[in-house]
Formats: sequence, structure tokens, C-alpha cells
Amino acid sequence: MRLSRYFLPVLKETPAEAQIVSHRLMLRAGMIKQASAGIYSWLPMGFKVLKNIENIVHEEQIRAGHIPMLMPTLQSADLWRESGRYDDYGEEMLRMSDRHGRDMLYGPTNEELITDIFRSHVGSYKDLPLTLYHIQWKFRDEVRPRFGVMRGREFYMKDGYNFDLSKDDALHAYNRHLVSYLRSYERMGLQAIPMRADGGPIGGDYTHEFLVLAETGESEVFYDSAVTDLTFGDREIDYDDHAQCQAILEEFTTRYARTDETHDEAVFADVPEGRRRTARGIEVGQIFYFGTKYSEAMGATVVNDQGDRVPVHMGSHGIGVSRLLGAIIEASHDDKGIIWPEGVTPFHCGIVNLKQGDEEADAACDALYTSLTALGLDPLYDDRNERAGGKFATMDLIGLPWRITVGPRGLKNGVVELTSRRTGESEELPPEQAVEKVAKIYASL
Ligand code: ATP
Ligand code: MG
Repeated sequence: MRLSRYFLPVLKETPAEAQIVSHRLMLRAGMIKQASAGIYSWLPMGFKVLKNIENIVHEEQIRAGHIPMLMPTLQSADLWRESGRYDDYGEEMLRMSDRHGRDMLYGPTNEELITDIFRSHVGSYKDLPLTLYHIQWKFRDEVRPRFGVMRGREFYMKDGYNFDLSKDDALHAYNRHLVSYLRSYERMGLQAIPMRADGGPIGGDYTHEFLVLAETGESEVFYDSAVTDLTFGDREIDYDDHAQCQAILEEFTTRYARTDETHDEAVFADVPEGRRRTARGIEVGQIFYFGTKYSEAMGATVVNDQGDRVPVHMGSHGIGVSRLLGAIIEASHDDKGIIWPEGVTPFHCGIVNLKQGDEEADAACDALYTSLTALGLDPLYDDRNERAGGKFATMDLIGLPWRITVGPRGLKNGVVELTSRRTGESEELPPEQAVEKVAKIYASL
């Protein structure tokens, strides 16, 4: 993309309404615009990152054997009356009626809808195990929407639901979700630590929240600092292998890591003193096993191999896709702006032309743009007639991980400059080598 043809409405001023850095930077970098409290339009660059995050989530869910689908945002109240949650859910649920006076709601989550789909189409144990998921907008009428997309009212969430014949199988589904979530967050350049959490209104004994450590996080967390040394890395996973998935769950959840809802001082005291940490965290996902709660209430049963009709074991598993943009920025920025991890960056590489209109510089930039594009990369070329300082400030603000700077002086020696946004380090290279290096970095992801 050429910046002169793009829509990137960056703000010079720091918006007064934004209290935390990710919200400020998303507004300044022209990624979002508030439409009303807790509801945002996603401007082109914000939309790109949102889609990149969504793609990682899809790829990892599909890899785990989970099946994508799409359910609507608007739901009928009747299903929620069946589960008993229509009255329980309270003021966070946005309720409305259609022209015929039917009660409707904007879905805050989808257990009821998915259970209804299941009971309509699945009747035999032979159809299990089954895990369906979708990525869809949700609405929760939060009392205090704040921090931009981190606590919105309308937000984008991946929610998945597993249906299994036995508790054992459902716990394997739980473990598959834990593993696939660890992989997903790591691909986004994030460390999200699974912490023992509280069942809340959905209920259930088995639940972990995934937290990104950040001072601005809304959750108070307590953990053994050894958990921050764990990385998922490049392992081969067989998602059908119960023992392997269970071993990963144990590796990542045995050490103390809990939110304030489940924190227990007595157990925490067993962690060696030098490793006890209290901090703040951003919840970017949660997994639940809740047994037969919904399947019993809503008649989601299958016939087992003995010929008996039994309720299925279920779990639900969510990732805060839109919140993740805020969480990634909270975890990765400096005083000049955002620093995108390569896995989610809106453009792979920036090209800055120091002397727009100079025949050689223009031609060199065009050639770089063409070669990067030919390699399947998506560069952002700042081809505006602006001072170099302004171009650098924009690139630093929007946080592309790599920048190639092209100027007449370098070109005389046959070189351009390749700069890492993260380290600030630059090196001079012939243009082809700069392209090769950038391509190699992305190919290794
Ligand atoms: P929270 O405790 O932050 O209100 P929750 O536990 O109610 O969240 P879940 O039902 O577990 O949320 O939803 C799954 C994920 O969706 C959460 O882990 C979070 O990342 C995201 N999420 C929940 N509420 C919001 C919101 N208001 N704005 C943006 N993302 C949200
Ligand atoms: Mg939660």
C-alpha cells in the first residue's frame, strides 16, 4: 500500500479521553474511532490487525480439530428462558423486541444457541466428540466501558463449545483448548499465562483464564515467577494424543498462578519467597468445563453404546479477539508508539523515501515495493511529500517491525537502511539483501 492512497488518519494530539497507553496509541495511529460509549468503528489499519489476530485464532482452532461456523448476533429470548439465564444475566444483556413484540437480545455469549443447534442435529454417541466455534461480535452492556477496545460494550470474541460423551473426553477437549490457546497467543508475540479462575455465572469447576501481565490490567494476579519462564515454542502436537495434551496442561498449570477470585494465601506461602509475585493482568481468554449443566437444562442428549439417552458433557472456551489488540499494545510499545510483533503487524515492512521526487530514490522505492510484494509481503510505502522527520514519526507511531529507508546519499553507495522498530538498530545493505532479510524473518514465523 502507498500511504498517499491509504486512509490512515493519525492524530497529532494525544486524545484526552484515553486513560491508558493502548487506547491512546490506537486513537493516535488512526486504528479506531469511537462510535458511542464502548462501541468502535475499526478504521483500515485497526481492521487489518483485527483480521490478523482472527486468522491466527482460526488457524490454531482448525489445527486442533475444532470446526468453524457462524451464529447470529441477535438471539431469541426463548432459548435463554429455557436455560434459566434470561432473568439471571441482568443488566449486561441488551434486550429488545422486534415489530411483532417478540423478545430478542444481542448475544453476550452463545451457549444456548449452540446447544439448540446440537440437540436439533446430533443424537448418537457416534457423532462425538464435536467441537464447534465461531468468531462473532458480542454485546455486554458494561457499566463502565473503558480503555478503548479492552472493555468495550460491543466486542469481537472467539467462542467455542465442546460436546463429549464422557467427562474424560470433555477434559481432553479442555486440554486441547489450553494447548491451542498457548500456541495462538505465542504467535501473536504475547505471553498469556493460564491462571486458575472462578466459574462465575457460567459455573464449573475446571476453568483457567489466560492473563497478559500489564500494569494497566484490571485483574489482580498472584503467581510463581517460574511460570514466566515457560514457553510453548515450536513443538509438534498431536491433538488426538490425550497424554500429550494432559502433560502440557500440567506443565503450564502446576505452578501457582491464580486470579484474586481463587487466590489462597496459605497455598501461595508454599512458593519460595523470592518467586512470589503479585501483579496486574489483562484477561485475554478463558476456558471452562461445565459438565452437563446446559445439556440437562436444554435436553442436549445422545444415545450411548448401551442404548441409553444421556446428557452430553460440555465446555465453552473464549478468546477476546478485539481486546487482544489493546493487550498486545500494552505489552509492546515505547514512548514513540506501537511496536507490533511480526505475527500480527498490519504491514510487514515500511518503506520511507527520504527524497520524494528524486528520480533515483523514487525508482529504488518502487523496486523495493515490487520485490517485497512479489514475495507475498505487504509493505507500506510512505510516498508522501513530507519531511523525513515526519515520516519517521509516523512509522514509529504505527509500529511496523521493519523499516527500509531510502535516500539519494545511500543509493550512491548502493545501499538502503534496514531498521528494527524493536531495537532501533539499523544496518546498511544493498536493496536486494534488505528485501531478502525481511522475507526471511517472515518466512520463519
Ligand atoms: P471480564 O472478566 O474481563 O469481564 P469475562 O470473564 O466476563 O471478562 P468471558 O465470558 O470469559 O469474559 O469472555 C471471553 C473473553 O472475551 C474474555 O477473556 C475477554 O478477553 C473478552 N471480553 C470479555 N468482556 C469483554 C469486553 N467487555 N470487551 C472486550 N473483550 C471482552
Ligand atoms: Mg472470563
